[in-house]
Formats: sequence, C-alpha cells, structure tokens
Amino acid sequence: METSVYTLTRDPTRRFSIAPDVDALYWDRRGEAVTVLETHPSVGQAFRHLRSGKGAPGDRLPPPPVSLWERWERAAHSLRSLLAGRALLWDEVKGLVRELAGPMGDQELRAVLQTMCLTGMAFMLPGVEIPSAVSRWRCNRCGSGPEGLFRSRCGRCGGECVSCDRCLFLGRSRACTPLFFFLPEEKGEASGDFRRVDLRLPALTEGQKWVSDRCLEAVRSGQRFFLVWAVTGSGKTEAVLPAVHRVLEGGGRVLWVSPRRDVVEELAPRLDRAFPDLPVNVLHGESGWVRTSSPLTAATAHQAWRFYRCFQLVVVDEVDAFPLKGDPQLRAGVERAAAERGTILWLTATPPRDLRRRLARGQFPGVILPVRHHGRPLPEPRLFRLWRLWSSLDQGRPLPPVTAFLERVVEHGGQGLLFVPRVADVDRLLSWIRRRHPDRFGECRGVSGRDGERKRILEELRRGDIRFLITTTVLERGVTLPRCHVLVFGADHPVFDAPALVQIAGRVGRTADYRFGEVWFLSAERTEGQLKAIREILWMNRVARRRGWLKEDEENGCQ
Ligand SMILES: [Zn+2]
Ligand SMILES: [Zn+2]
Repeated sequence: METSVYTLTRDPTRRFSIAPDVDALYWDRRGEAVTVLETHPSVGQAFRHLRSGKGAPGDRLPPPPVSLWERWERAAHSLRSLLAGRALLWDEVKGLVRELAGPMGDQELRAVLQTMCLTGMAFMLPGVEIPSAVSRWRCNRCGSGPEGLFRSRCGRCGGECVSCDRCLFLGRSRACTPLFFFLPEEKGEASGDFRRVDLRLPALTEGQKWVSDRCLEAVRSGQRFFLVWAVTGSGKTEAVLPAVHRVLEGGGRVLWVSPRRDVVEELAPRLDRAFPDLPVNVLHGESGWVRTSSPLTAATAHQAWRFYRCFQLVVVDEVDAFPLKGDPQLRAGVERAAAERGTILWLTATPPRDLRRRLARGQFPGVILPVRHHGRPLPEPRLFRLWRLWSSLDQGRPLPPVTAFLERVVEHGGQGLLFVPRVADVDRLLSWIRRRHPDRFGECRGVSGRDGERKRILEELRRGDIRFLITTTVLERGVTLPRCHVLVFGADHPVFDAPALVQIAGRVGRTADYRFGEVWFLSAERTEGQLKAIREILWMNRVARRRGWLKEDEENGCQ
C-alpha cells in the first residue's frame, strides 16, 4: 500500500502515513506543517526509509479543508467499537467494515484508519518487516521468523516482497501491506461496568468448588497466569465457569481457546447452556467473522492472532496438546489476545514437567484437581510383559493378554480401545485378530487418524456399532465412552510417554455406574513412561483420598 514518509517543520522525527492529507490537516490544527519526503509503493519500504535516515528535502503538503477532519473523526469513532481489540490486515479490515458497517471507498477507509492511528485508537506496522530489535525478517501477525517467510514478486506493490506462509489461512501477511492493531476500549472492572449475567451450572462437587474458588481469586487479584491441573473426567470446565461469569459480569470479555475445531464445536453448546442470555461467538478456520457484540468467544488457538489485548480472561484448554505444545508463536498470540491486566487460565490433565515442578514448589500459581466429578478413584493401569511381542503378532502366535482383554470386554458388556504406536500397526493387530479370533473380527475397526474419519468413528463408537477400536494416539484425548476398557499394545514405544499414557488411561471409568473398565499396558519392556504414568495416577488418587474427596467402597478393592 502506498505510504508516505514525512517530517514536521519544527520536529525532524520521521513519520509515515497511508493518507498524508489526514496528517497535514491534523498537524495544521496544531500549528505544524507537513513536508513529504518520499512516497513508497509499500508500507514495508516506507518503514525502512524511516529507519535509514537517508532522503532529500521534500515538498510541503497543503492541508485539505478543515471540515474533512470532523467527518474522518466521526467515522473513526463509529468504527471503533467494531474494530477495538483486533489485529487485522488491510484486507481484513476492509472485509469486516464492508460486511458489518456498510460499503466504504478505499481512500475514505485509509483516511479513517490514519485518523485512528493519529488519535491513539490504533497503530500500524507492516505485515512482515525486519524489526530492529531482532534484525531478521519477522511476521508481525504470527511472529514467524525467516523459516516461515518467503520472497517473491508481488502483484500488490510490484516489487520483490516478503510474505508469510505460516498464517496464510487468515489472509496473506506481507511486507507491503499494513497490519493494524486496534486498542481495546476501556472494559472490565476498572470501567465500572456491570451487567447481570445468568449462569446455570450443575451443583459443583467439593473438589470443583475448591478449584472454582481459587480461579475466582486468581481473576480477582489480577494474576497473569494460573494453572489448573485437573485429572481426566474431573469436570474442570464447570469448575472454571464461575470465573468466566465473574469477568462477564464485570463488563469484560472472555476468550476460550481449544486445541481443535471439533473441540470448539463441542464446547460452544455447553457454554450456551451455562450462559443462556449470551450468544457464544464461535471462531475457527471456516467460521468467518464474529458477528455479535457478545463478550464470550470460543475459538481455536490460531484465531487468537486476530486479537489485540482484547480479553480480560483467556481460558486455554489442553495447553499441553497440539497445536499449542511446542509452539511459542501460538502461545505468544494467545498472550497478546489477553488484556494487559488480564488473566490467562491454563487447563490441562498432563502439564509439562517443568510446570508441574514449579507448581509443586509453589513457584507457579495454580491448583490441582485430583478427583473425578463422580468421586471414584482413577483406574490404576496393570502391566503385562511379553517377550517377542511384535514377532508373535506378525506370526499369528498366541498373545494371551490380548485374548484375555477381548474376553474381558465382551464378558462385561463393554467397549475396548486398543492403542498401537504407529498407523501401520493398526492393520497388523487387525490381521492378528482375524487369524486368532475370527468370531471377534466383525466387531473390530481400525482408525488411521485421517481428517474427517475421527468424527465418524466416534459417532459409530457412541452408537455401539463398534465393540473394539484399534487406534493410534490420535484418540488419546477427547473420547468419552461410558463402558470403556483400554489396552495399550507396545506400551514401551517412545510415542507412549507418560503424558500420553495418562491421557489414554483417562478414557476409562468416566461414569460412576460402570466399574469394570480396566487399563492394561502390554509391552516387551517396562519403560520409564509406563512407570511414571502409573506413579502419577497413584499419586493423584492419594492426594484425592487425603483431601477426603474420594468415594470408595470395599467391593471394588479400592481401599
Ligand atoms: Zn505470519
Ligand atoms: Zn508486495
């Protein structure tokens, strides 16, 4: 986008503008005159010029009629509530304004955006630039470095241009295109807003209540980060909702980040039920814009890149899962979406080691919820060792633990998930079952983890059309079956680290009335992963017992 670099008569600081008439008028009202040094075809080039210090003396720009200022300012104020708290490229601003505020010509929109920048409602950077602090190319929207960027001939600016591949699905961020950060409007308790928000919750258990109080306290005291380490099936969503409610009643905004689109879509109706007066904005790859002014948004992590200091509370579910795991840029995006004094709640069943260590030492604020909502202890995994596991599998030799597992599931009218380490192992185990247990083969299915398959398989499982599902770790999270048994085949494989095994074990025993579900780890060797997972599960049960939150009975041998 064409961008001018200018100075003022009494101030040699270089400034830039995408609508220099606006600047001429703005400064004229303050007794300053604008001298345009150069006009570049790209905002990125103008930025380089700003920093280079080169350039010849330029031409004085006469200000346009004064009446224009009022028009631009009025338009800026009317767009403000639509744009506040967002980080958007020029094309996105244009699309959003056209869709939600009505058509506006490019020149006019540029003038209005420049007005917003001059009056402190927004600021502007090139989509991709070389910030002096890091002195290498970087995308200002997603934070991607040179590895995510590429240089090519650009149709926009007509020159060589650097653009970002990493956040391409949100629209192309490039060196010649401006990225606008719109400052949030004053929201939250400081502004004294209060609105009545209805919250409908099932009665919380003692454990949930305790976590809920700690989260409320974290929000109230303005804690930046707060970790909720809750076992699988603990009902942590419900435990966090009172904190969400408090922020909403205080006039603040809340963003709930989930790892995948299907999780967002499952969560939205739950939020709808909890907050019946508030529509929930749902944002993911294909959902388009937030259309309502509702302060409650459920989104995938990548959507956070489109917000700027917008939310007084950000809840990040499964912070240890893909895609947030090991992705500092995505995490930075989530943090940038949170208001300056906002709180970020991390929810997880399996926090990374450094975090759990810091939590245990009291160096990181957080809380542990060691018990499920029904109060029954977590099932303790049983270890089975078998030499030459894989060769027996391929040669169709007996594998007594697998046979025993299949029989046990059938005997107790349950469903079995059989986890294998690699996609290719799904068929290996299926062939073994066909050979050794042809009568059971018809009840077995395999899942490879292709997109779209997951949803269909889950539906068939829930309907009970499948008794045994052979799967990789793609189903380690998010599957809740009432009569579930789990066998991990080859539990000594490195993909089955302790967090993965804890998640997998967490599929079992999710309802109080089915108590036959068991977790079996079958491997040739005992690994640190298996032992750690078991230690952690035992530890959680001990903590829950010590706090008096476990409901146990002797018939099941849980004492
Ligand atoms: Zn990017
Ligand atoms: Zn370009």
